[in-house]
Amino acid sequence: MVTAKARAVDGPDKSFREAEIERRELDKHDILIEIKFAGICHSDLHTAHGDWGEVNYPLVPGHEIAGIVTDVGENVSKYKVGDRVGVGCMVDSCGECENCKAGEEQYCLKGNVPTYAGVDKYGEPTQGGYSTHIVVVEDFVLGIPDSIPLDKAAPLLCAGITTFSPLNHWEAGPGKKVAVVGMGGLGHMAVKIAHAMGAEVTVLSQTLNKKEDGLAFGASSYYATSEDETFEKLAGTFDLIINTVSAKLDINAYLSLLTLNGTLVNVGAPAEPLEVNAFSLIPHRRSFAGSMIGGIRETQEMLDFCAEHDIAPSIEVISADEIDEAYKRVMDSDVKYRFVIDISTM
Ligand code: NAP
Ligand code: ZN
Repeated sequence: MVTAKARAVDGPDKSFREAEIERRELDKHDILIEIKFAGICHSDLHTAHGDWGEVNYPLVPGHEIAGIVTDVGENVSKYKVGDRVGVGCMVDSCGECENCKAGEEQYCLKGNVPTYAGVDKYGEPTQGGYSTHIVVVEDFVLGIPDSIPLDKAAPLLCAGITTFSPLNHWEAGPGKKVAVVGMGGLGHMAVKIAHAMGAEVTVLSQTLNKKEDGLAFGASSYYATSEDETFEKLAGTFDLIINTVSAKLDINAYLSLLTLNGTLVNVGAPAEPLEVNAFSLIPHRRSFAGSMIGGIRETQEMLDFCAEHDIAPSIEVISADEIDEAYKRVMDSDVKYRFVIDISTM
């Protein structure tokens, strides 16, 4: 058993505090990872704040994990001590249902085991990456390509795969016009990845404050959604819209921007329902869809794609004592473009 240092939160309105958590003894296929960096995803905030329903506190969030293998169970074959590895939003699944067999473990019919705020197969609550160590079964551990530094690799494990997967599934590429709504952690990765896939990318942000960055990330246009002309000007333009916004939006306004047969994919996960008018969809055979992270095989593909195309998130590295301040800034959309905790400061 390894005792890990961690940062935990005890309730929706509480600050983070120092904590210690026990990581289980290695089972035959388990890997012990010394965590070096952990990204802060808006889902960590939703969960810690109780937006999505009740959670068991104390909670140690963090599902964008990058580190080094320090021990392996006796039957581990995929990784060895010293390997650079990552862990994303899930740490296990049934492995037997049709979705798991298809490599879509995130849609496991029995429910995947989330990296934190879940219960593992031993009946123990899972605790995430704001900690010095984690034990994960080898099938849910990703290999980080040598060219991606660990601090920049961390956000790829959620923000990267959550945007790569729908862009891949709905075939973003040459000749496709893709809009990204919200340029935070997920949004800025969506821009970089869609551009690398060859699509023509437009950012729809609340203001033009981050326009220069958006164009540098690969967007060819950038509009402020606070200006009504934006919606008039762009009506019927996009084949694919990826909505990464963490708050409720007027989805009908965004659906009006789709072409014939266009699809708006919601990855943003606000607690409030998004209301859709039938007539936002019917006249142009438009689709309104959702997408959740990505499977393990696809996550490895995404990491390799990012290495090949020299793509990495733009990050701000913080110390463990700065988590509360970072949460405030995420709530204020003041993030460029992902906070990553340096776990050595724990
Ligand atoms: P983030 O870094 O906070 O980015 C969200 C962006 O949305 C902000 O930067 C802002 O962009 C925009 N925004 C925020 N509040 C807004 C409002 N009231 N109206 C309009 N725009 C607003 O968050 P994130 O980490 O990228 O996560 C985004 C969402 O995706 C969260 O809800 C998260 O839980 C969810 N998520 C889903 C999955 C999945 O599997 N589907 C995985 C990970 C995360 P601008 O400043 O550019 O307007
Ligand atoms: Zn996430």
